[in-house]
Amino acid sequence: MCESCTRNLAYIDWNRACPRCGAPFGAVQCCECNPVMLSAAERQELPFERLVSAVSYDDAAKAIASTFKDKGERRLAQDMARAMSRCIPPEWFTQSAVITFVPASKAAFRKRGFDHAELLCRTLAEILEIECTSLFARPRSFDQRALSRKQRAENMKGRLELLPKVEVAQNVIVVDDVCTTGATLFAACDALAQGGAQLIRCVTFARV
Ligand SMILES: [Zn+2]
Repeated sequence: MCESCTRNLAYIDWNRACPRCGAPFGAVQCCECNPVMLSAAERQELPFERLVSAVSYDDAAKAIASTFKDKGERRLAQDMARAMSRCIPPEWFTQSAVITFVPASKAAFRKRGFDHAELLCRTLAEILEIECTSLFARPRSFDQRALSRKQRAENMKGRLELLPKVEVAQNVIVVDDVCTTGATLFAACDALAQGGAQLIRCVTFARV
């Protein structure tokens, strides 16, 4: 990415964002993770301690995510991971944390020839100098693009499973490229909590 594109991304301002779910203007009152919104997703609490995202999902972020993932421009992983590394609060690394990713579905992996989330996660782990581990089995398919918020939550229920006999660290950071409704991250966090993770945090490049 050129300097001007990098400079002009819609970076989320952490003084204005929700300290829990990272919604861009939720610092005082969040319209994303309040009890009403959570109950629509049949939840009482967020399944993670905190979610942060580097940028808002505007046209530029959309173009970046799609060029990276669908057009196979793998070099964008560096730019995306660098932006993500800057939005992660330093205290996330005070206890030993591992970083993991939500794997691409079998169908998507076949079509693209690489796992975009894994590449993003490995690149981010290198920048942060922490360990990247693969914890999830590759799901069959979860193309969610045409689904509504409720349908996405329904579609993702129990879809993500941990790899057999995998040992889950206490402190896990989950990486994904885009957070749309949170359904994918929620499913990942549920599986990690069931596997014994105590502290789960999430980071994405962009959020809707
Ligand atoms: Zn919130």
